[in-house]
Amino acid sequence: SAKANGKGCYQLLTSELQQKAMSRLQLENDLRRAIQNQEFSLYYQPILSLPNSNKLGFEALIRWHHPKKGMIPPDQFIPVAEETGLIIELGLWVIKTALNQISIWQEKFPCFSEIAINVNVSPQQLMIASFSEQVQDLLSDFNIKSHQIKFEITESSLLRTGSHYIEVLKRLKSLGIQFCIDDFGMGYSSLSRLHEFPIDTLKIDRSFIRRIGSNQGEIELIRTIITLAHGLGMDVVAEGIETKSQLNQLSLLGCEWGQGFLFSKPLNSVDATQYIAALLTTPRKQERVKALLM
Ligand code: C2E
Ligand code: MG
Ligand code: MG
Ligand code: MG
Repeated sequence: SAKANGKGCYQLLTSELQQKAMSRLQLENDLRRAIQNQEFSLYYQPILSLPNSNKLGFEALIRWHHPKKGMIPPDQFIPVAEETGLIIELGLWVIKTALNQISIWQEKFPCFSEIAINVNVSPQQLMIASFSEQVQDLLSDFNIKSHQIKFEITESSLLRTGSHYIEVLKRLKSLGIQFCIDDFGMGYSSLSRLHEFPIDTLKIDRSFIRRIGSNQGEIELIRTIITLAHGLGMDVVAEGIETKSQLNQLSLLGCEWGQGFLFSKPLNSVDATQYIAALLTTPRKQERVKALLM
């Protein structure tokens, strides 16, 4: 009967919700343990200047090596880390690890002393009262210049913020730290507020790049974003470049930087070091070497 069906549905729904809550709780517990046991590592994805790839930077991307479940992608645990506040500790670890990597590369590749790494930061991190002091202390501990680290903030998180947040950005900016607006063009856009934020670089979301070639309108959209960014004094990174033709189009549009599988997937520390070494030892790329900084 309908009544029995209704009850059945209700039970199904509760058990589904229970299931969700359970796995969410388990993930949270797992995360706490993982932070204790240091189950995380950073991968580094090259960001190259267009069209000649004569400048290089990296974006640091966190990886969780779960002892039983294997590699868990950040999209699956960063939101939980944000909801639970664990992102504060985890985010600090990310910054430390990136700075440590810069100092290792500086020593190994002296001609490379100005190498920069982009680090993704969550709004919660920026809202800690002591955040800018913490960052300043870490920079001096590792003897890294403030322009060698760039913070990526997603467009959607920027939009959820008020005036206090803008003050924090400006304070960090006055220390010399630069900001990228990440995943630009996803979801609701911040066009009308974009000029309020002290942003240096705009990263066009992968979803736009993927649709290049499908129709002319897509190119016009990207052209408009690039013009807007340049008009506001920002340079542009195109995310998720996978094909030569996407690369060519973006170069023609005056996009300054590219990142994506066409150049390289995110690399672990050893492979990223190898990537730099290979650039430095390829004879025809000797010319590039002098300009290898982002
Ligand atoms: P994101 O910052 O936009 O990072 C770019 C994502 O696109 C990365 O996924 C990268 O592996 C992927 N990607 C790069 N090039 C290509 C391509 O050519 N094709 C395709 N299909 N994908 C490409 P990943 O590493 O899974 O990171 C996902 C998101 O997790 C990041 O998006 C970022 O928002 C977040 N995340 C990663 N690490 C951290 C972190 O340390 N802290 C915080 N708060 N968030 C992080
Ligand atoms: Mg990013
Ligand atoms: Mg991005
Ligand atoms: Mg993204």
